[in-house]
Amino acid sequence: MAGIYIHIPFCKQACFYCDFHFSTSLKKKDELISCLITELEIRKKELQNEIIETIYFGGGTPSLLSSEEIKSLLNAIYQHYKVIENPEITLEANPDDLSEEKFLELANSPINRLSIGVQSFFEEDLKSMNRAHNSKEAKECLSIATCYFDNITVDLIYGVPNMSNERWKENLQIAFDFGVNHISSYALTVEPKTVLDSFVKNGKYPEPDETEAKEHFDILVAETAKNGFVHYEISNFGKPNYFSKHNTSYWLGKKYIGIGPSAHSFSKTHRSWNVANNAKYIKELQEGKLPNEQEELSKEDQFNEYLMTGLRTIWGVSLNEIQENFKADFKEELLKSSKKFIEEGLLIIENNTLKTTPKGKFLADGLASELFRIK
Ligand code: SF4
Repeated sequence: MAGIYIHIPFCKQACFYCDFHFSTSLKKKDELISCLITELEIRKKELQNEIIETIYFGGGTPSLLSSEEIKSLLNAIYQHYKVIENPEITLEANPDDLSEEKFLELANSPINRLSIGVQSFFEEDLKSMNRAHNSKEAKECLSIATCYFDNITVDLIYGVPNMSNERWKENLQIAFDFGVNHISSYALTVEPKTVLDSFVKNGKYPEPDETEAKEHFDILVAETAKNGFVHYEISNFGKPNYFSKHNTSYWLGKKYIGIGPSAHSFSKTHRSWNVANNAKYIKELQEGKLPNEQEELSKEDQFNEYLMTGLRTIWGVSLNEIQENFKADFKEELLKSSKKFIEEGLLIIENNTLKTTPKGKFLADGLASELFRIK
């Protein structure tokens, strides 16, 4: 089983914190879509022995595509790949693109999961992040979305300066009241070279506070649990049967290809990434070349990747798998290096699986890097 990710590199405006690849000029949209179709065709061999289980339109802002454009991309997938009968097909969407008419179109398309970039239901947060939608649009969009789609996830950002614990709780409560079945939630981080980075450096925006972010994270974990959500990955909370199948397959190390500028692909032994530039991406594909670079993953890289993703999830890191798939000393050394974190109550071994404890969850990435193997 495998997945296909399609990156739609266009946005209406730039959110201050964002370091994804996108352009706010839609001039090359038609050319780019035909190149996505070309890339899907050229790369079909990579998944010729696989069945596609999930398709994910991410970005950027995929809701800027018309239903005809979505249809042409899906047709290319069905033409060149073997797809299971009811694949999970997710589309990332922003509230300002989602009119009732758009929902109707999407509901009549094969898209069966919507990922809505709400980020906050409060005007001051949305303004401070330079989101294209306002609070009213976020709420209206969800009230219509729930009439047309059952499988909806919303993105919410915490740790925003001046967001009190009460306001963060209210944000979560609004999402629960709309009946969404999945929430992805990330702390606001200042990524290098973003507008937010320059604002923080110039003193125009306060630096997000880690202690506040940790308090918000604890509220997030407690409130989602009270409302029947399972915390199945550090930033992802889903009701049973509503976990993201596509993202879960990343975390379980399944194969996927990423189509479009900046998209990444993964097979157990290799990783590749496309050029993060729309003009270069189009030029290369129009010349019949693949605009990507590839690296082979050493056993150490594969082990580190497994640790990084495993410790972020409820499935943890299977010690049996480490024994079967890696060199003999990997398991012994992992047990030795994790001992101190087990004693500190940050990690635990249960059923021969190494996992983070509730106390260690927020620190999962740091813990994984402490346990990495250096080549
Ligand atoms: S809409 Fe999404 S991809 Fe586009 S700038 Fe904002 S956060 Fe980034």
